[in-house]
Amino acid sequence: MSFGETAQGRAVWTGRAKNRIMENEEHDMLGERMSETENLIIAGSGPAGLTAAIYAARADLKPLVFDGPTAGGQLVVSSEVENYPGFEEPLTGMELIERFRNQAERFEARFRSESVEHVEKGDGVFTVRTPEGAIDARALIIATGAEARRLPIPSEKKFYGKGVSGCATCDGFFYRNKRVIVVGGGNSAMEDARFLAKFADKVTIVHRREYLRATPIEVEKVKEIPKIDWMIPWVVDEILGDETVTGAKLRNPESGEMREIECEGIFVAIGHDPKTDAFRDIVETDEKGFIVVQPGSPKTSTPGVFACGDVCDREYKQAVVAAGQGCMAAMEAERYLGIRE
Ligand code: NAP
Repeated sequence: MSFGETAQGRAVWTGRAKNRIMENEEHDMLGERMSETENLIIAGSGPAGLTAAIYAARADLKPLVFDGPTAGGQLVVSSEVENYPGFEEPLTGMELIERFRNQAERFEARFRSESVEHVEKGDGVFTVRTPEGAIDARALIIATGAEARRLPIPSEKKFYGKGVSGCATCDGFFYRNKRVIVVGGGNSAMEDARFLAKFADKVTIVHRREYLRATPIEVEKVKEIPKIDWMIPWVVDEILGDETVTGAKLRNPESGEMREIECEGIFVAIGHDPKTDAFRDIVETDEKGFIVVQPGSPKTSTPGVFACGDVCDREYKQAVVAAGQGCMAAMEAERYLGIRE
């Protein structure tokens, strides 16, 4: 007996097929097909992907996780996580992600440092393509998260990496005794401002409207730091400099007033967009690019493909929510593969 479609259209896992799954061994073949058909591929290694890996590995599915361009996802750049349940004391995002990953590896989840570039649907399998080749899998979990938005002005591109950064945790250290701007009014901007205040002489938060998306507790923490200034409502119209950033031209969208401020660094923290380009041929996405899932479920428009975390979360975007959704995706994948009722 083998895998087949049930009346409900899902694969069933029986006898010989089960043995085949357990014995699944990888072998390279000139960079094209990299292994026998996998049970489950997980794209993404943030809290959603790693939780899916922990659950799927404990169910003996031997999941293969593609790390993606930023192993660990957005959480690795978080300097302080203090709302993940189970940790009384704050820890860094990197520490939290390492714990997730160690836990997944303990149950023999396998990892590859590659990004999924494209997926095609075949006959009972999904062909997952990376720069290294292609692998077939019976089920797929998409947990690729989201990527940082960029400011829509040409000078942002010009100075990116030369004073403009999307990662305070990575680059903050270089701004010791300097002046920096943080653009944005969400929790990321508040967190970045507080982190940068440890190094910089002066931090100015520039936000485009009076209302802040950040939670009051995060805003209050920022207000307690005297070296952090606010410019609200202002927008960055142009980034100034020669080789590196020397300042920014700001515009007040209400009065039209223009101002220039001097600074050496500009940190952009204006939210994230879901990373779904590789999957658009196999699952439905909405007008903002989020993968559409059934309400309260990780099921996508394609049986056998599940989504979890920020790639499908328009609302909450929290590590703990992503982890919960990763668990759901793994359990649904187990059900699809016929090893869970
Ligand atoms: P966010 O909450 O979506 O906030 C993005 C901010 O950037 C908003 O204030 C938005 O302004 C502004 N913005 C967007 N596009 C802009 C543009 N083109 N020019 C100027 N400003 C622009 O994103 P986030 O701060 O990255 O947070 C994402 C999620 O992660 C949230 O759910 C957040 O709670 C969570 N998070 C939590 C923590 C924590 O709990 N410690 C830390 C970090 C992040 P408008 O408000 O005008 O739209």
